[in-house]
Amino acid sequence: MARPAKSRPERSCIVCRRVFPKRDLVRIVRTPAGEITVDSKGKISGRGLYFCGDAACWKAGFQGDRLERALRLTSHLPPETRERLHQQAEEVLKLARRET
Ligand SMILES: [Zn+2]
Repeated sequence: MARPAKSRPERSCIVCRRVFPKRDLVRIVRTPAGEITVDSKGKISGRGLYFCGDAACWKAGFQGDRLERALRLTSHLPPETRERLHQQAEEVLKLARRET
């Protein structure tokens, strides 16, 4: 049964560009204070990007300066920030899988 798409926001993964319901994606956001974090509730304001649950997309997305460009950062993310984001995202994805 097809449900009306109206009230179901969709976003595309920054790597594969496939479109998913927002809740199936992981959002990484740069807050107005300049903090980079995983937005598990989708409620943090700021410039964000979305990853799907595909491990290949995570790998590609964390390579080079892709994250920096998507978040419009002027400097490179330190390795520890990347590591933290990756871990946070994995937690979110695990939670998402458990819910379904
Ligand atoms: Zn993807």
